[in-house]
Amino acid sequence: MNATPEMMFDVLIIGAGVVGLALARQLANRDRKLVVLERNERFGQETSSRNSEVIHAGIYYPREFLKSRLCVEGNGLLYAWCRRHDIPHARIGKLIVAVNEDEEAELARIKAMAAGNGVSDLEILGKRRLRSLEPAVAAQAALISPTSGIVDSHRLMQSLLAAAETQGAILSCRAGVTAIHRIAGGYELEINHGAYRVATKILINSAGLHADAVAYRAGIDIDAAGYRLRPCKGNYLRPSPSPSLRHLVYPIPLKNNVGLGIHATVDLSGRIRFGPDSRYLNGEEIRMLQDGEIAKTNPTAEKANLYAIDKGREKDFAAAAGKYLPGITEAILFPDMSGIRPKLQGPGEPAADFLIREESDRGFPGLIDLIGIESPGLTACLAIAAYVEKNFF
Ligand SMILES: Cc1cc2nc3c(=O)[nH]c(=O)nc-3n(C[C@H](O)[C@H](O)[C@H](O)COP(=O)(O)OP(=O)(O)OC[C@H]3O[C@@H](n4cnc5c(N)ncnc54)[C@H](O)[C@@H]3O)c2cc1C
Repeated sequence: MNATPEMMFDVLIIGAGVVGLALARQLANRDRKLVVLERNERFGQETSSRNSEVIHAGIYYPREFLKSRLCVEGNGLLYAWCRRHDIPHARIGKLIVAVNEDEEAELARIKAMAAGNGVSDLEILGKRRLRSLEPAVAAQAALISPTSGIVDSHRLMQSLLAAAETQGAILSCRAGVTAIHRIAGGYELEINHGAYRVATKILINSAGLHADAVAYRAGIDIDAAGYRLRPCKGNYLRPSPSPSLRHLVYPIPLKNNVGLGIHATVDLSGRIRFGPDSRYLNGEEIRMLQDGEIAKTNPTAEKANLYAIDKGREKDFAAAAGKYLPGITEAILFPDMSGIRPKLQGPGEPAADFLIREESDRGFPGLIDLIGIESPGLTACLAIAAYVEKNFF
């Protein structure tokens, strides 16, 4: 079927993760025909439902990064949204713990870095204060971040979709974008290998782990542009019996921000998980991820193997978590879940920022790419959406 005038949208968003849905909520209005295309059966089946669900404060990222600005803005916007829309969330606070003197020195550095990002409410706690707050944690000192918290990401996505739909937006699932062609005044997209076509004036690529593939399909040389993603897996294990914790508990972050180190997260039901660790996918796994993306069968099922918890991680997790939670041993750790980070930063490379840009200068007017939206993308989703509207609409 060729695109008919009825199927010409003003705005088309590829990807119904938390960012695509936040964009739909931000940009939908009664005078705009807006559609979100999602290839899975439902919204939010990928990275947006495979993460720590932490509302970050914006502590760690370099000051000049969009990540840092959008995280700080997103934190406030997200708490306000959750209150207004009754989304389960809790501002439980986060402790970054130092287990020796070297790490104690790091706390001051992190505090100063956070202040540079506009996060000035961090406080250093001595051993006694820390003990009174979290008796199970053994550490010399800690930084407490009172604005860190947790959120029910599924309910958040539901609320964003409902708000977008109220403004006339449409979500179309089982609609994988398999080809993109430039047409006068916009783009024509083939859905599910040509099963049907739609056209749009503005095309937003919010395809998470496949944002590089979508940009490629639009005609961008992703290697020259630096858009090729380096997927990086994170496993979670759960302790049983579980220690009792009231705060999120993080170690000093890893060098280069590959990950934040194996931390303890508490979910809204009080359940503790450890993770995520960090492992770049190998070539075979990357092919599997990409095959899933272009396969005619259900891509979620295709990728099931990729999300299987890596075997034999208990020892490393016990060593990492046991540093600040004595009593965590291999024997009490069990597989929980995993997620894959859509990283622009390759192994050994410096940290990379979110990449959000309109592509007129590459010859693709009206194409807006969002690439490398890894953590803190959940926290920042509302701020990312506001940024896109402010800069490109
Ligand atoms: C292990 C881990 C822990 C994390 N922890 C946190 C945290 O605690 N706090 C935080 O703020 N952030 C965290 N993040 C980051 C956060 O989860 C992501 O930044 C966020 O979910 C990204 O949302 P998204 O909408 O961009 O991507 P996704 O949720 O991946 O959505 C993209 C969507 O696009 C669809 N799609 C792809 N290609 C096509 C196509 N061709 N046609 C149609 N649809 C397509 C996919 O099916 C998918 O549904 C974590 C990430 C990971 C991996």
